[in-house]
Amino acid sequence: MSIKIVNQRSHRLINVIFALVLVLGIAVSGMVFYKGDYIARKTVELIDQQVPAYDLLRKLNNSLIEKERFLYEFYAMEQQDDFERGYSEINQQAQRVLDELIVRFGDIPPLQITQSSLKELNILAGEFVLNITASQTNWTLARQQLRTISDVRRATSPQIQQLITLTENKVERSEQVIINGLELVRFFVVLYGLATLILAYIVAKAIKAYLSSAVNNQRLSLFSTRNPNPVISLDNQNAVTYCNPATENLLKKLGMGAGKAELLLAKNIDVYQKQLLVEGKADSKQFEYQVEQLYFQCDLHWLEDQRQWDMHLTDITARKKFEQALQYRASYHPQTGLLNRYELEKSVTQLCQIEQKFTFGLIEIRSFSQLISGQGVTVASTVVKEVATSLDNIMSSIDKAGGRVFHVGEKSFALVCTSDLSNTQIDSLVEQIDQRIGSTIFHSQYQVQLDFGFANYPQHGNDYTQLHKNSLAALDKSARSEDKRHVLFNLQLGEKLRYEQQLIEDMRIAIEMAEFELYFQPQMALSSEKIIGAEALIRWQRNGQWIAPSEFIPLAERAGLIDTLGDWILHTACQKAQNIVSLGWDDLIIAVNISPLQFGRKDFLSKVTNVLKETGLRAKNLELEVTEGVMIYNEQEAIETLTQLKKLGVHLAIDDFGTGYSSLSYLRKFNIDKLKIDQSFIQDIQHQAADQSIVRTIIELGHNLELKVIAEGVEGLEQQQILTSLGCDEIQGFCFSHPLPEQEFIDFLQQHRAV
Ligand code: C2E
Ligand code: MG
Ligand code: MG
Repeated sequence: MSIKIVNQRSHRLINVIFALVLVLGIAVSGMVFYKGDYIARKTVELIDQQVPAYDLLRKLNNSLIEKERFLYEFYAMEQQDDFERGYSEINQQAQRVLDELIVRFGDIPPLQITQSSLKELNILAGEFVLNITASQTNWTLARQQLRTISDVRRATSPQIQQLITLTENKVERSEQVIINGLELVRFFVVLYGLATLILAYIVAKAIKAYLSSAVNNQRLSLFSTRNPNPVISLDNQNAVTYCNPATENLLKKLGMGAGKAELLLAKNIDVYQKQLLVEGKADSKQFEYQVEQLYFQCDLHWLEDQRQWDMHLTDITARKKFEQALQYRASYHPQTGLLNRYELEKSVTQLCQIEQKFTFGLIEIRSFSQLISGQGVTVASTVVKEVATSLDNIMSSIDKAGGRVFHVGEKSFALVCTSDLSNTQIDSLVEQIDQRIGSTIFHSQYQVQLDFGFANYPQHGNDYTQLHKNSLAALDKSARSEDKRHVLFNLQLGEKLRYEQQLIEDMRIAIEMAEFELYFQPQMALSSEKIIGAEALIRWQRNGQWIAPSEFIPLAERAGLIDTLGDWILHTACQKAQNIVSLGWDDLIIAVNISPLQFGRKDFLSKVTNVLKETGLRAKNLELEVTEGVMIYNEQEAIETLTQLKKLGVHLAIDDFGTGYSSLSYLRKFNIDKLKIDQSFIQDIQHQAADQSIVRTIIELGHNLELKVIAEGVEGLEQQQILTSLGCDEIQGFCFSHPLPEQEFIDFLQQHRAV
């Protein structure tokens, strides 16, 4: 671009300078010619007229003086022959010169006077000669005559001098005119020479710039030859005028045949050409186009001075493919090829904008983490793909609601049905999906179960976030209660959600302000009726109201607060336990509830070790209560942690035994001390034979594995007696004590027999 400008400037400058030199040359030549002619004329005039006239005047003066001299010599010598010869010659000469002067100057007064003086001189000379040649020469007269002759002759001198002065002035003027003319000519010639020199300097500079730009051009022209990308030039009829070797290589590669560069042009190149010319702001335009399977970026240039198009092509196929892949990734889930969560958000937002009623649904594969830990990631991934395909097929076959399926998370799908479905319609949809999924044989014979949650626009939300949140709430609730008939969000659920959100916020503050307390619920050995320990239970009074741990602990788990809260519980429980133990109950065991999430943390073991070290509590005074849920995440790791904890000397109990994991085989692998029978089996044990037999089985199982068995939630004496009869080792419950604050628990210990 800059080279092109340099070229244009050099060209323009050289042209201007040539024009200037030409005009100046013509002007100076004309002037020199005119002045030269004028000087020549003046010189001729000077040489032909004024100089001879001047000469004649001098001659005339001399002739008159000579004439007078001859007369005086004649007077003195009286040699008549010499006198007559010389005198007549000089007389004729004087007359000739005078005649010539009259011709040159005309019959002007000084010449008229001189003419008459000459005549008078001749007369006087005649008279004088007569007197001398007379026999009786009158010498006095002769002298008188000579004086008169001298006077007359002298009288001619001013006239001649006047003419000489006139001629001299003329000569001087002519001379001045010639000198001035010559000066002027010299000035213009010098000026012209100087101007030519300056212009030559400018031209030289311009030529230098031109040459260097030409060199640059030449160097640049090699760029296109060596350019690995195609470069094509077109004339203004779009006929190819040049293509570089890279173009030929590409044509060969595409099998288009040599020299067919026009096949590489964009089909609608004329559109871009017009745009470039119409816009006129830039001298190039960039656009992208496709030729066969390749994508090109074209930089189109219009070269005005050469009236042709230059095109630089860049192969952007790899970038385009990458962009397409990214675009695909932006809209589709790579695992299943279903539309992803961004597309879901987009279509939901669009529907909200046009205020079209619709139903939003979330579907999750139940117990997915168990599927991964049990069958491995590969099987889990295959199952997800199969579920995706099934859901897609089901939705296209049901189609009544015009539903679309999205894959929104590892185990989660979403549905958007373009009409708002009633509760009954949703139930029937869920049933149909469940039936089809139930009858599908998935990879590794895995039995897939799905959880559902639905929300309707606009009743249950005005935007994606709300609809998603509410259908997730519906899904959570139905998954927790396993109630597939109530999967549609409702206002009570919304109310509950808001309440829970507030509870979470308050819990955050309560953690910071250490507003929690620990209570201790005593545990008793049935055989000795001695207090052997206690379970530490968290208590929280919020705005003067007790909030049940069963309410806020799961929320803390969901909101990610359980780690901080769990740390506080463990540390405080150990501290207080050490207090109590140090009061003299050496073998007292304080049980602390550990959430599965807390237990699953990599640093849990080191936390327990540190807490024991910090509080000084011995490991044998601490029991950790974990639920069967700890197995859900990673069975192997859970076993490993339990083993390490056991090595530390800490007691381990399985809480709420009988309600969680269905398989009992893991119990053999666990190095635990105690099974804690869930209170749901105890509640009605005095009336329900089935509960009794379950409790019996658990006790037997525990004993077989050499584990202690404790029953919790024992409220009455009858229950206690049954448990004693069934061989249960320990009990915990309202029948002998509610959970107590620390001091009350210490009082309780002092009042009762304790270990
Ligand atoms: P859990 O570990 O099974 O605790 C026993 C629950 O039964 C306690 O409820 C206790 O107050 C209650 N209970 C004890 N005896 C009786 C009885 O005779 N009748 C009845 N109806 N209930 C009895 P709480 O304190 O409300 O705790 C509920 C659950 O919250 C606990 O069940 C435990 O899972 C969790 N939790 C409580 N404290 C903590 C804690 O410090 N950390 C963790 N991670 N969870 C805790
Ligand atoms: Mg417990
Ligand atoms: Mg329990």
